[in-house]
Amino acid sequence: MATWQYYHNSSTTNDALKVLKNTSESVKIISGGTDLLLDIQQGRHEEVHTLVDVNTVPTMHVLEILDGYLHIGAANLHRVIAQSPLVKEHAAALATASGLIGGPQVRNIGTIGGNVAHALPAADGTIALLCLNAQADIASSNGFRQVPMAELFLGPGKSALKPKEEILTGFDIALRKKGEGSAFNRTMRPQGVAIAILNLAVWISMRADVIADIRIAAGPTGPVPRRLTAAENALRGKTITDKTIAGAYEAATGEVQLRTSRHRATQAYRQDVLGNLLEKTIREAAVNAGVKL
Ligand SMILES: Cc1cc2nc3c(=O)[nH]c(=O)nc-3n(C[C@H](O)[C@H](O)[C@H](O)COP(=O)(O)OP(=O)(O)OC[C@H]3O[C@@H](n4cnc5c(N)ncnc54)[C@H](O)[C@@H]3O)c2cc1C
Repeated sequence: MATWQYYHNSSTTNDALKVLKNTSESVKIISGGTDLLLDIQQGRHEEVHTLVDVNTVPTMHVLEILDGYLHIGAANLHRVIAQSPLVKEHAAALATASGLIGGPQVRNIGTIGGNVAHALPAADGTIALLCLNAQADIASSNGFRQVPMAELFLGPGKSALKPKEEILTGFDIALRKKGEGSAFNRTMRPQGVAIAILNLAVWISMRADVIADIRIAAGPTGPVPRRLTAAENALRGKTITDKTIAGAYEAATGEVQLRTSRHRATQAYRQDVLGNLLEKTIREAAVNAGVKL
Protein backbone atom coordinates (compact mmCIF):
# COMPACT_ATOMS: atom_id res chain seq x y z
CA MET A 1 0.00 0.00 0.00
CA ALA A 2 1.40 3.44 -0.97
CA THR A 3 2.08 5.86 1.89
CA TRP A 4 -0.20 8.40 0.16
CA GLN A 5 -2.55 8.54 -2.84
CA TYR A 6 -2.10 12.10 -4.05
CA TYR A 7 0.82 14.54 -3.68
CA HIS A 8 0.28 18.25 -4.32
CA ASN A 9 3.22 20.62 -4.90
CA SER A 10 1.84 24.00 -3.80
CA SER A 11 2.85 27.13 -5.67
CA THR A 12 1.54 29.62 -3.08
CA THR A 13 0.15 29.46 0.45
CA ASN A 14 -3.34 30.17 -0.97
CA ASP A 15 -2.97 27.24 -3.34
CA ALA A 16 -1.99 25.00 -0.40
CA LEU A 17 -4.88 26.32 1.73
CA LYS A 18 -7.37 25.57 -1.07
CA VAL A 19 -6.22 21.97 -1.42
CA LEU A 20 -6.29 21.50 2.37
CA LYS A 21 -9.85 22.82 2.54
CA ASN A 22 -11.26 21.09 -0.56
CA THR A 23 -9.86 17.61 0.05
CA SER A 24 -12.57 15.44 1.57
CA GLU A 25 -10.17 12.54 2.34
CA SER A 26 -7.47 12.73 5.05
CA VAL A 27 -4.99 15.45 4.15
CA LYS A 28 -1.79 16.69 5.69
CA ILE A 29 0.83 19.39 5.10
CA ILE A 30 4.32 18.09 4.39
CA SER A 31 7.61 20.02 4.43
CA GLY A 32 10.76 17.87 4.63
CA GLY A 33 8.82 14.76 5.67
CA THR A 34 11.51 13.70 8.19
CA ASP A 35 8.93 13.47 10.97
CA LEU A 36 5.70 12.87 9.07
CA LEU A 37 6.74 10.13 6.65
CA LEU A 38 8.44 8.10 9.37
CA ASP A 39 5.38 8.47 11.59
CA ILE A 40 3.10 7.21 8.80
CA GLN A 41 5.42 4.38 7.75
CA GLN A 42 5.93 3.23 11.35
CA GLY A 43 2.23 3.36 12.21
CA ARG A 44 2.38 6.28 14.66
CA HIS A 45 0.21 8.36 12.31
CA GLU A 46 -2.96 7.27 10.51
CA GLU A 47 -2.77 6.78 6.74
CA VAL A 48 -2.95 9.99 4.73
CA HIS A 49 -4.70 10.26 1.36
CA THR A 50 -3.29 13.63 0.23
CA LEU A 51 -0.01 15.32 1.08
CA VAL A 52 0.24 19.06 0.48
CA ASP A 53 3.87 20.08 0.00
CA VAL A 54 4.64 23.63 1.15
CA ASN A 55 8.37 23.44 0.41
CA THR A 56 7.57 24.51 -3.12
CA VAL A 57 6.17 27.89 -1.96
CA PRO A 58 8.91 30.47 -2.67
CA THR A 59 7.74 32.99 0.00
CA MET A 60 8.19 30.34 2.67
CA HIS A 61 11.95 30.29 1.93
CA VAL A 62 12.48 33.98 2.64
CA LEU A 63 15.17 34.67 5.24
CA GLU A 64 15.78 38.39 5.61
CA ILE A 65 15.17 41.47 7.71
CA LEU A 66 11.58 42.57 7.13
CA ASP A 67 9.90 45.52 8.86
CA GLY A 68 12.63 45.62 11.52
CA TYR A 69 12.43 41.90 12.39
CA LEU A 70 14.44 38.89 11.32
CA HIS A 71 11.91 36.95 9.22
CA ILE A 72 12.55 33.24 8.72
CA GLY A 73 10.16 31.49 6.32
CA ALA A 74 8.87 28.18 7.69
CA ALA A 75 10.27 26.14 4.78
CA ASN A 76 13.86 27.14 5.49
CA LEU A 77 16.09 24.10 5.96
CA HIS A 78 18.06 23.61 9.16
CA ARG A 79 21.27 23.74 7.09
CA VAL A 80 20.35 27.15 5.63
CA ILE A 81 19.44 28.57 9.05
CA ALA A 82 22.61 27.22 10.70
CA GLN A 83 24.79 28.85 8.05
CA SER A 84 22.94 32.17 7.76
CA PRO A 85 25.03 35.20 8.86
CA LEU A 86 21.76 37.00 9.75
CA VAL A 87 20.65 34.20 12.07
CA LYS A 88 24.11 33.96 13.64
CA GLU A 89 24.04 37.72 14.30
CA HIS A 90 20.47 38.11 15.59
CA ALA A 91 19.47 34.64 16.82
CA ALA A 92 22.63 32.74 17.78
CA ALA A 93 20.64 30.19 19.83
CA LEU A 94 18.68 29.19 16.71
CA ALA A 95 21.79 28.99 14.50
CA THR A 96 23.41 26.64 17.03
CA ALA A 97 20.26 24.52 17.48
CA SER A 98 19.75 24.18 13.71
CA GLY A 99 23.37 23.11 13.26
CA LEU A 100 22.93 20.32 15.81
CA ILE A 101 19.66 18.83 14.51
CA GLY A 102 20.00 15.29 13.14
CA GLY A 103 22.90 14.74 10.75
CA PRO A 104 23.68 16.40 7.40
CA GLN A 105 20.92 14.45 5.60
CA VAL A 106 18.21 15.60 8.03
CA ARG A 107 19.50 19.18 8.05
CA ASN A 108 19.39 19.19 4.25
CA ILE A 109 15.67 18.38 4.07
CA GLY A 110 14.13 19.05 7.50
CA THR A 111 12.61 22.50 8.01
CA ILE A 112 12.13 24.84 10.94
CA GLY A 113 8.37 24.93 10.21
CA GLY A 114 8.12 21.14 10.47
CA ASN A 115 10.18 21.17 13.66
CA VAL A 116 7.76 23.61 15.31
CA ALA A 117 4.49 22.29 13.83
CA HIS A 118 5.25 18.77 15.07
CA ALA A 119 4.98 20.28 18.58
CA LEU A 120 7.35 17.96 20.42
CA PRO A 121 8.33 19.32 23.88
CA ALA A 122 12.07 19.03 23.17
CA ALA A 123 12.34 19.96 19.47
CA ASP A 124 15.63 21.85 19.22
CA GLY A 125 14.50 24.60 16.83
CA THR A 126 11.35 25.18 18.87
CA ILE A 127 13.25 25.58 22.15
CA ALA A 128 15.60 28.11 20.54
CA LEU A 129 12.70 30.11 19.03
CA LEU A 130 10.94 30.10 22.40
CA CYS A 131 13.84 31.76 24.21
CA LEU A 132 14.06 34.29 21.36
CA ASN A 133 10.37 35.15 21.94
CA ALA A 134 9.64 34.59 18.23
CA GLN A 135 6.22 35.27 16.77
CA ALA A 136 4.82 32.47 14.62
CA ASP A 137 3.17 33.65 11.36
CA ILE A 138 0.05 31.70 10.46
CA ALA A 139 -1.91 31.92 7.19
CA SER A 140 -5.51 30.82 6.68
CA SER A 141 -8.23 31.59 4.15
CA ASN A 142 -9.47 34.25 6.61
CA GLY A 143 -6.13 36.07 6.52
CA PHE A 144 -3.03 36.14 8.65
CA ARG A 145 -2.41 35.95 12.38
CA GLN A 146 0.65 36.05 14.60
CA VAL A 147 0.96 33.91 17.71
CA PRO A 148 3.77 34.14 20.28
CA MET A 149 5.70 30.86 20.35
CA ALA A 150 4.74 30.39 24.01
CA GLU A 151 1.04 30.15 22.98
CA LEU A 152 1.48 27.80 20.05
CA PHE A 153 1.40 24.45 21.87
CA LEU A 154 -1.52 22.60 23.42
CA GLY A 155 0.04 19.23 24.33
CA PRO A 156 2.66 16.69 23.25
CA GLY A 157 2.52 16.61 19.44
CA LYS A 158 -0.42 19.04 19.40
CA SER A 159 -0.06 22.62 18.18
CA ALA A 160 -2.68 25.37 18.18
CA LEU A 161 -2.68 25.33 14.35
CA LYS A 162 -6.12 24.44 12.95
CA PRO A 163 -5.68 21.29 10.84
CA LYS A 164 -7.00 21.72 7.27
CA GLU A 165 -7.30 25.47 7.82
CA GLU A 166 -3.94 26.94 8.76
CA ILE A 167 -0.33 26.91 7.58
CA LEU A 168 2.68 28.05 9.55
CA THR A 169 4.42 30.40 7.15
CA GLY A 170 7.34 31.77 9.18
CA PHE A 171 8.76 33.33 12.31
CA ASP A 172 9.67 36.89 13.27
CA ILE A 173 12.41 37.61 15.77
CA ALA A 174 13.35 41.00 17.25
CA LEU A 175 16.75 42.19 16.02
CA ARG A 176 19.58 41.91 18.52
CA LYS A 177 20.38 45.14 20.35
CA LYS A 178 23.59 46.12 22.13
CA GLY A 179 24.01 44.07 25.32
CA GLU A 180 21.81 41.20 24.08
CA GLY A 181 22.87 37.68 23.22
CA SER A 182 21.59 34.11 23.11
CA ALA A 183 22.92 30.55 23.25
CA PHE A 184 21.73 26.94 22.97
CA ASN A 185 23.07 23.67 24.34
CA ARG A 186 21.79 20.12 24.59
CA THR A 187 22.80 16.73 25.94
CA MET A 188 22.22 13.64 23.81
CA ARG A 189 22.82 9.94 24.38
CA PRO A 190 26.23 9.08 22.88
CA GLN A 191 24.66 7.38 19.84
CA GLY A 192 21.59 9.59 19.98
CA VAL A 193 19.84 11.33 17.14
CA ALA A 194 16.46 13.04 17.08
CA ILE A 195 15.46 13.84 20.68
CA ALA A 196 17.74 15.30 23.32
CA ILE A 197 17.94 14.05 26.91
CA LEU A 198 17.60 17.75 27.64
CA ASN A 199 18.09 20.94 25.66
CA LEU A 200 18.18 24.52 26.90
CA ALA A 201 18.26 27.96 25.29
CA VAL A 202 18.91 31.35 26.87
CA TRP A 203 18.35 34.89 25.61
CA ILE A 204 19.85 37.58 27.82
CA SER A 205 19.95 41.36 27.98
CA MET A 206 22.84 42.73 30.03
CA ARG A 207 23.20 46.24 31.49
CA ALA A 208 26.94 46.32 32.25
CA ASP A 209 27.34 43.14 34.34
CA VAL A 210 23.71 43.03 35.56
CA ILE A 211 21.06 40.82 33.96
CA ALA A 212 18.43 43.36 32.84
CA ASP A 213 16.23 40.68 31.31
CA ILE A 214 16.46 36.97 30.53
CA ARG A 215 14.40 34.22 28.86
CA ILE A 216 15.15 30.54 29.36
CA ALA A 217 13.49 27.65 27.51
CA ALA A 218 14.20 23.96 28.04
CA GLY A 219 12.82 20.64 26.89
CA PRO A 220 11.54 18.13 27.64
CA THR A 221 10.43 19.80 30.86
CA GLY A 222 6.67 19.27 30.58
CA PRO A 223 3.97 18.34 28.06
CA VAL A 224 4.72 21.35 25.83
CA PRO A 225 7.87 23.33 24.95
CA ARG A 226 8.10 25.89 27.75
CA ARG A 227 9.95 28.71 29.42
CA LEU A 228 11.48 28.39 32.90
CA THR A 229 9.96 31.57 34.31
CA ALA A 230 10.86 30.93 37.97
CA ALA A 231 14.52 30.59 37.00
CA GLU A 232 14.24 33.75 34.88
CA ASN A 233 12.75 35.65 37.86
CA ALA A 234 15.57 34.43 40.10
CA LEU A 235 18.16 35.91 37.74
CA ARG A 236 16.65 39.24 36.67
CA GLY A 237 18.51 42.20 38.24
CA LYS A 238 21.39 40.01 39.44
CA THR A 239 25.00 39.62 38.36
CA ILE A 240 26.21 36.28 37.04
CA THR A 241 27.88 34.45 39.91
CA ASP A 242 27.97 30.82 41.06
CA LYS A 243 25.50 31.81 43.80
CA THR A 244 22.92 33.43 41.50
CA ILE A 245 23.15 30.53 39.06
CA ALA A 246 22.65 28.09 41.94
CA GLY A 247 19.55 30.10 42.94
CA ALA A 248 18.22 29.89 39.38
CA TYR A 249 18.84 26.14 39.30
CA GLU A 250 16.91 25.72 42.55
CA ALA A 251 14.02 27.73 41.08
CA ALA A 252 14.16 25.71 37.87
CA THR A 253 14.00 22.36 39.66
CA GLY A 254 10.81 23.52 41.34
CA GLU A 255 9.05 24.29 38.06
CA VAL A 256 10.16 21.57 35.61
CA GLN A 257 8.52 18.18 35.20
CA LEU A 258 11.41 15.86 34.38
CA ARG A 259 10.58 12.25 33.52
CA THR A 260 12.43 8.98 33.48
CA SER A 261 12.21 7.63 29.94
CA ARG A 262 13.14 4.04 29.05
CA HIS A 263 15.29 4.91 26.04
CA ARG A 264 16.96 8.10 27.13
CA ALA A 265 17.60 9.01 30.76
CA THR A 266 16.41 8.88 34.35
CA GLN A 267 14.71 11.80 36.02
CA ALA A 268 17.70 12.18 38.38
CA TYR A 269 20.16 12.29 35.49
CA ARG A 270 18.07 14.90 33.70
CA GLN A 271 18.07 16.97 36.89
CA ASP A 272 21.89 16.99 36.92
CA VAL A 273 22.00 17.82 33.22
CA LEU A 274 19.63 20.74 33.83
CA GLY A 275 22.14 22.31 36.26
CA ASN A 276 25.04 21.89 33.84
CA LEU A 277 23.18 23.19 30.80
CA LEU A 278 21.73 26.12 32.73
CA GLU A 279 25.13 27.35 33.93
CA LYS A 280 26.89 26.77 30.61
CA THR A 281 24.19 28.39 28.49
CA ILE A 282 23.67 31.46 30.72
CA ARG A 283 27.41 32.15 30.61
CA GLU A 284 27.61 31.62 26.83
CA ALA A 285 24.62 33.91 26.22
CA ALA A 286 26.22 36.60 28.40
CA VAL A 287 29.49 36.31 26.48
CA ASN A 288 27.51 36.60 23.21
CA ALA A 289 25.95 39.74 24.72
CA GLY A 290 29.45 41.21 25.05
CA VAL A 291 30.13 40.57 28.75
CA LYS A 292 33.59 39.43 29.79
CA LEU A 293 33.22 36.57 32.30
C1 LIG B 1 17.31 10.76 11.90
C2 LIG B 1 16.56 11.92 12.46
C3 LIG B 1 17.21 12.80 13.32
C4 LIG B 1 16.53 13.89 13.85
N1 LIG B 1 17.19 14.72 14.72
C5 LIG B 1 16.53 15.75 15.30
C6 LIG B 1 17.20 16.60 16.24
O1 LIG B 1 18.38 16.43 16.55
N2 LIG B 1 16.48 17.61 16.81
C7 LIG B 1 15.17 17.84 16.48
O2 LIG B 1 14.57 18.78 17.01
N3 LIG B 1 14.51 17.05 15.59
C8 LIG B 1 15.15 16.01 14.99
N4 LIG B 1 14.50 15.20 14.10
C9 LIG B 1 13.08 15.44 13.82
C10 LIG B 1 12.83 16.21 12.48
O3 LIG B 1 13.83 16.01 11.55
C11 LIG B 1 12.70 17.70 12.70
O4 LIG B 1 11.72 17.97 13.66
C12 LIG B 1 12.38 18.44 11.40
O5 LIG B 1 12.61 19.80 11.60
C13 LIG B 1 10.94 18.25 10.93
O6 LIG B 1 10.75 19.07 9.78
P1 LIG B 1 10.17 18.50 8.44
O7 LIG B 1 10.23 19.62 7.47
O8 LIG B 1 10.84 17.24 8.03
O9 LIG B 1 8.67 18.21 8.91
P2 LIG B 1 7.59 17.23 8.30
O10 LIG B 1 7.93 15.82 8.65
O11 LIG B 1 7.34 17.53 6.87
O12 LIG B 1 6.31 17.71 9.13
C14 LIG B 1 6.23 17.52 10.53
C15 LIG B 1 4.84 17.93 11.00
O13 LIG B 1 4.63 19.32 10.83
C16 LIG B 1 3.55 19.59 9.94
N5 LIG B 1 4.01 20.72 9.12
C17 LIG B 1 5.17 20.79 8.43
N6 LIG B 1 5.31 22.00 7.90
C18 LIG B 1 4.22 22.73 8.26
C19 LIG B 1 3.80 24.07 8.02
N7 LIG B 1 4.55 24.93 7.32
N8 LIG B 1 2.61 24.48 8.54
C20 LIG B 1 1.85 23.61 9.29
N9 LIG B 1 2.20 22.34 9.54
C21 LIG B 1 3.38 21.90 9.04
C22 LIG B 1 3.32 18.30 9.17
O14 LIG B 1 1.97 18.17 8.76
C23 LIG B 1 3.70 17.27 10.23
O15 LIG B 1 2.63 17.08 11.11
C24 LIG B 1 15.16 14.11 13.52
C25 LIG B 1 14.52 13.23 12.63
C26 LIG B 1 15.21 12.16 12.10
C27 LIG B 1 14.50 11.26 11.14
